[in-house]
Amino acid sequence: MSNVTEIFGSLVFNDGVMRQRLPKDTYRALKRTIDEGRSLDRSVANVVASAMKDWAVEKGATHFTHWFQPMTGITAEKHDSFISPTAEGGVIMEFSGKELIKGEPDASSFPSGGLRATFEARGYTAWDPTSYAFIKDGTLCIPTAFCSYSGEALDKKTPLMRSMEVLNREAVRVLRLFGNGDVKRVVTTMGPEQEYFLVDKALWKRRKDLIYCGRTLFGAKPPKGQELEDHYFGAIRPRVSAYMKELDEELWKLGILAKTKHNEVAPAQHELAPIFTTTNVAADHNQLTMEIMKKVADRHGLVCLLHEKPFAGVNGSGKHNNWSLLTDTGTNLLEPGDSPAENAQFLLFLVAVIKAVDEYQDLLRLSVASAGNDHRLGANEAPPAIVSMFLGDELTAVLKAIETGAPYNGSGAAEMKVGVHVLPRFPKDTTDRNRTSPFAFTGNRFEFRMPGSTQSISGPNIVLNTIVAEELSLFADELEGAEDFETALNELIRRTLREHNRIVFNGDNYSDAWVEEAKRRGLLNLRSAAEALPYFVSDKNIALFTKHKVFSEKELRARCDIMLENYSKVVHIEGLTMLEMARRDILPGVLEYVKALADTAAAKKAVLPGDAAGVESALMERLSALAACLARRADALESALMAGKGAEDAAGEARYTRNHVFTAMQELRAVADEMETLTAAKYWPYPTYGELLFSV
Ligand code: ADP
Ligand code: MG
Repeated sequence: MSNVTEIFGSLVFNDGVMRQRLPKDTYRALKRTIDEGRSLDRSVANVVASAMKDWAVEKGATHFTHWFQPMTGITAEKHDSFISPTAEGGVIMEFSGKELIKGEPDASSFPSGGLRATFEARGYTAWDPTSYAFIKDGTLCIPTAFCSYSGEALDKKTPLMRSMEVLNREAVRVLRLFGNGDVKRVVTTMGPEQEYFLVDKALWKRRKDLIYCGRTLFGAKPPKGQELEDHYFGAIRPRVSAYMKELDEELWKLGILAKTKHNEVAPAQHELAPIFTTTNVAADHNQLTMEIMKKVADRHGLVCLLHEKPFAGVNGSGKHNNWSLLTDTGTNLLEPGDSPAENAQFLLFLVAVIKAVDEYQDLLRLSVASAGNDHRLGANEAPPAIVSMFLGDELTAVLKAIETGAPYNGSGAAEMKVGVHVLPRFPKDTTDRNRTSPFAFTGNRFEFRMPGSTQSISGPNIVLNTIVAEELSLFADELEGAEDFETALNELIRRTLREHNRIVFNGDNYSDAWVEEAKRRGLLNLRSAAEALPYFVSDKNIALFTKHKVFSEKELRARCDIMLENYSKVVHIEGLTMLEMARRDILPGVLEYVKALADTAAAKKAVLPGDAAGVESALMERLSALAACLARRADALESALMAGKGAEDAAGEARYTRNHVFTAMQELRAVADEMETLTAAKYWPYPTYGELLFSV
């Protein structure tokens, strides 16, 4: 392996390269754009573009692309070469400021939720200079936002940047109240822990469900799953280790801070966590990470499965979203601090998050809603579908003391007064014990554990940023007008805790008792994407997003429709895949086995006296009955799939899909999985769970 410090960022046009290659005033102008969000002058852009092109060409690049994140959830790129013809019949390599700043791709084939009519098919992409350009496969990639011609967001980056801007504005307002005049900017930071499965490519190729859907749609439980708990943090096997090494190297070249790798709970499951960074960059990096994971797997004869639930019966994959707020002066606003003043500020940000999570449970839940994640949330392993917060016993006790005015045993004071008393220290290891909570305070950040492994982290972070910004803005409104800041602050924190403590739950989130308790507390329990997604366009949520200009009402409705349609389409494809597998592979395979049994039985009967073919007959009878059941259930699934078309709207279609198509799929699967356990291995058309899970 080459020297890590040397290869790190070697394919990135980062600050070091800019400083080295740009004239001083160009560099300074670009820095201002990056740090303060100012727009870039055309002449400056020309100089930057030219330097970028020279650098990229030296590294072997021939093309450039505006790299963006449409609503498909993955990234998009259209490559243009740098060539420009000369009078002598040759070419030179050129790249202008105009090409750097703005692109005009045809947007007509991306999901737009009706935002873009085909007669105005063009969209435009605009450079996000806060995320460095990089080289991938000989192409200079420029991270961009993607909008319709009339300026509506068609991607995941635009609203994320808007939400970060709003949070910046409101957080700075609050910091002013505490006398922090030197802070100019607040960004949100993000560290996404990425889980994934690795399976052998040769086996993968023999499973249509994995090829079309990324998850298995059939498969009987193998004799061994994760019962022994012997995979988690276990020694990494050589083939996986070789994969992880190459993956790290590829990511480091792209300036991605790949840090931690280990085996996860399920067999064949692993995790990669980067060091956290600014959220929009973290989002870009996570998209790239997922892409590179798949690419590198292929080179090792492996397939990387990013689906939330590739296998029933073992753990699924999530993407823990570690989130905090960081000032440009280097303070983490979710770090309690040492003095009463720091503590007071921390507590105000903390209760802002508590209030936000309570009031916008629906938004957090739906921000992670998808067909894939439905298999995970609430399935006894990942967090439940009910949103609640874990604060740990110590912090909860402190908050209780503040809320009620009762003495806190650690404080030594008769009453915990914000801004006067020092908070006790919370050792980090005691703050992260509860792994069942969907939203946990982990000492100096929050860890939102509901996002699914395939999802872009933009969605959940747009919601988090906006809802916290909203609460901060209301707090600032109230405190800015206060006569006595200290008294008003105490009153505000106390009141907020009193009104929103129902969202705090430190117990076992997987227990049935919690489901009951949550119901008593009036918390939402949105079990499926079909149930959750329509909340996106409730009056309350439209008011929130339009107030802060993160989404216009039109954009919000479009996005809601896209997510609902995606849900129905994904389930539909899965249903069709199941039909194909059941009718064309499973049934023929089993019938062939039945025929073999019948032949054996006939042969035995011809030479042996009495009931010589008892075993064959019994098995044939059982399998024939199951085969008939399979055929019937396949017909039922087909009817459900056909009837679904033509629901009144996207929400209706999604509801129908969940209630009818999804149910029919589960019934079909149950009978097929039973058949698998009775059919001779050589007649079963697919590699088994055991083979897939222990293949690498
Ligand atoms: P665990 O599995 O115990 O949750 P990991 O080390 O796997 O811990 O992941 C923790 C993640 O949280 C890492 O990506 C880390 O960089 C990130 N993180 C740490 N501090 C912050 C912060 N202030 N803001 C955002 N993310 C953070
Ligand atoms: Mg974690």
